[in-house]
Parts: sequence; C-alpha cells; structure tokens
Amino acid sequence: MENESETRNAARSRGDAAPEEREDPSFSRNSTPRRDSNASSERPSGGRRKLPRRRDAVVKRTRPPVVERREEPPAASNGASSHQESPEPTLRPVPQSDRPKYVRWGMIDLTPEVADALADMNYREPSEIQRLAIPPLLAGRDVVGQAVTGSGKTSAFGIPMAEAVDPRSRRVEGLVLVPTRELAQQVTKEIAAVGSKLGVTVAAVYGGAPINRQIDQLERGVPIVVGTPGRIKDHMARRTLDLGNVRFAVLDEADEMLDIGFADDMEFILRRTPNNRQTALFSATIPGFILKLIRRYLDDPVWVKLVEKFDGIKTAAEVNQVYFDVAERDKQRGVREVLDQMPDNSQTLIFRRMQIGVDRLARDLDRAGYAVRGIHGGMSQRDRDRVMSSFRDGSLRVLIATNVAARGLDISTITHVINYDMPDNVEEYVHRVGRTARMGKQGTAISFVGEHDQEIIEKVLAKVGSGILNHKLLAIYGG
Ligand code: ADP
Ligand code: MG
Repeated sequence: MENESETRNAARSRGDAAPEEREDPSFSRNSTPRRDSNASSERPSGGRRKLPRRRDAVVKRTRPPVVERREEPPAASNGASSHQESPEPTLRPVPQSDRPKYVRWGMIDLTPEVADALADMNYREPSEIQRLAIPPLLAGRDVVGQAVTGSGKTSAFGIPMAEAVDPRSRRVEGLVLVPTRELAQQVTKEIAAVGSKLGVTVAAVYGGAPINRQIDQLERGVPIVVGTPGRIKDHMARRTLDLGNVRFAVLDEADEMLDIGFADDMEFILRRTPNNRQTALFSATIPGFILKLIRRYLDDPVWVKLVEKFDGIKTAAEVNQVYFDVAERDKQRGVREVLDQMPDNSQTLIFRRMQIGVDRLARDLDRAGYAVRGIHGGMSQRDRDRVMSSFRDGSLRVLIATNVAARGLDISTITHVINYDMPDNVEEYVHRVGRTARMGKQGTAISFVGEHDQEIIEKVLAKVGSGILNHKLLAIYGG
C-alpha cells in the first residue's frame, strides 16, 4: 500500500490527501469507507446532560438572531462598546464587573485579549466570511460557511472558538476536525495565536507524530483540540481523549474529509460529543452529499454562502489562469520552460497525481539543476515537516506535491500553481488553484493539458469560463 503503482486508478488518487489513513491498518484506501467496528462498543460520553458553562459564555440558541446586532447604536467613540448601557437586546451577555469591556473589530465585539492578538497578527479587520460567520457563532448558532479558498475561514471559526472556551479548562471544549496533518498544524497555530492573550492552549492531534507527546499534552489538559479523524479516534479508543465536554465542534474542509473516506470517523466522533454542542462546517465547496451531514449534525444552521449559486464553487478571482496543451512526454520540457521564465521572487507549487510521479519529477528536475523538493503521503512525517517548513520560510522555491497539499494549506507567498497532471475533477482544480492568490494577492495557475485530459479541461472551462482560463502555447511548440 505504500508504493503506488502508476497504473493505479487515477480516480482514487485523491486518497493521498488522507495520509493518516496509512497508519491505520484497518483502512483500505481502495475500498469504500469502512464501518466502525467498535462504534457500538464505545459508549457515547456526552448524551444530553447540561454542559459546564463558561461564566460569560453565550448559550446556544437562547440569544436573539444575529441580525439584531446591526441595529445597535454605534459603539462609543473610543471604539469600545458597553452593552450594559445598551437599551437594545444584545447578543452578548452582560459582562461581569471584573471583565473588561468588549472591543470592536470591524463590527464584531471581541474580548480585548482577542482583539489585541488579532492586532498583533496584523488582522486589521474581518474578512467577509469572518464578518458574516463570527457573529452568529458568537451567538451560539450553528453555521455552514462556504467561501473561496484563502478567504480567512480558519479564523472565522477560530476566533469564536477561542472566545467560547474556558482557557483554564482541562477538558476539551473546542474540537476541530481537519483532513490532513499539515492542515492540523496550520489551524492549531492560528487558533493558538488568536487565543494567546486569553491563555487558550490548543493541542494538535494527528497521525505520524509521536503519540506519547500528544498523550502527555492531552493528560495535562487543553481546552481545544485540532486533529485528523483517524488519530482522534485512536486517542478516544485509548481513553486519552474524552469529548464529553465539547461545546463547539468544527468540520473544516468537510467535503474533503468525506471524500477521502473519513465519513464514518467524522460521524463516530461527532456522536461522542454532547448533543447540545454548537457545530460549524466550513469548506470552499459543498457537494450534495455534504447536505446530508449538515442535516444530521447541524441544528438550524446559519448559511454563509459567499460563492456563486449555480455550482457552489468559484476560483479566486485574482488568480490569473492559463492552460497549455502538452503531450505527456513533453511535460518535463514544458515545466522547465515555465520555471525558467518565473520571476525571481516567485514560489511555485507543482501538483502531480501520484506519489511516484512526485518523486520522479523531483529527481529529474534536481538532476537538471533545479532546487526542488517533493511532498506526499508516502513520506515520513519528519520529512514532510522539513519540506513544508523550508517551503513556508521561503528557502525552498519549488515544491512538487500530490493532493496532500491541495486543501487548506495557506502559504501566502505562493505565486504560481502548476497542474503538471490535471486534477480529477473541478472541485480539486479549485482547491489547487486556491493555494495561490491568498487574501487578495496576485497569483498564476498554469495547467498542462495532456492527451487524456480533454474531458476534465472542458469541465473546468465550463465552470471557470474560457474568458478567465486562457489557452496559450508553450515555446517548445512554437508559442
Ligand atoms: P481559508 O481557510 O479560507 O482558505 P485561511 O484561514 O487559511 O483561508 O486564511 C488565509 C490567509 O489569510 C492566512 O494567511 C491568514 O493568516 C490570513 N487572514 C485571515 N484572516 C485575516 C484578516 N482578517 N486580516 C488579514 N489576514 C487574514
Ligand atoms: Mg481553510
């Protein structure tokens, strides 16, 4: 299972995005998602009992709908607002006298600690998804958040989660499920930064990393856990993770988790959290089968949909998108031509379908004198971490990856994405392309359309539009 053959059905290649499944011997990547054999032997630890509440926590669905907040009088001139003086119904509980006033971040009221942390992070104002999703989440509502990649979805749930948990809690109150390890690391870092001044700690729980260190951290107690479904289940089975006090659960990139066979794990995990928890689901794409999950696990959610209606997906408008027709055997020459023309400060992420393809291209380009590295689910976590950190700190300018890097990864310096192998479907195209042009920056996405890619490029063109995705000719073909 570690070595993929090149004849492996391309349609299954997306399984690479779930590296932790490799550590799980009961997971068969080529079969339908397995059922949980111990689903019935593990007793739900939550049930319907009342949750311990943070002193000032907002209680789910007992507050007026969030729109009323818009009608509140403007904040005091110093930017702080005291709800004690407000004659309007407020979403926030009246602060205790020992609590400082909330301060405004955009139109959102936050604790001074979180506002301070956001200032340190240089988040001057909320992004659109944050502006629309944070208020209902602070008010205790369930939320479905759908917005293009790079729009700030992590803090859209990270800020309310940091605000909702008791920083001193040694029980897990906030839980975030993500599809990949790298995403677990990234989301952990972001929530920890948001909650740093409140003293909120966050544990990352994912496969491939030493489990003992995770056990130590969980035993010491943390209010928030971010993890991949496989490792979370593992800790639950070891009784090192109890989800009976979770008040806020988030499914990040939920469609991807379902897609790569985590559907049962996700449900297993959610069923072991209290019923009266708050739940949010975030993704750039929400295909039909996610709706079932939403209906089952979210309670009257507020939908925040910032994508076009007709297909539920939209590529970041700032991405300059081109495609070249390139015969399979000419792709290496083609990619060298493209790399040779890159501006000096560019950073490029090249996608390949298979692990072996990543290894080969990395080897060949390395031999040809290009400083490149590869990353895929077949590598050790240490190697993956090493490669990722050199790409993050900019010392590595060209990274070749399987779809393990397609989802959620946020490296704002990426200027170019190359689809050396086309993705298998339009959603994947959108996610890959979304690795560049983060938060309004400029980016370029280049796709190599090979002999067998006619069908997919037509689908992509139909969705994205030929005015946006432009056809060009490589110099090797006289362009
Ligand atoms: P998404 O999950 O929608 O793909 P991310 O949460 O990964 O997007 O955020 C994309 C980038 O935007 C990150 O670098 C993040 O630090 C940055 N970011 C998020 N919110 C803000 C904000 N309010 N102001 C400035 N930068 C932000
Ligand atoms: Mg994300």
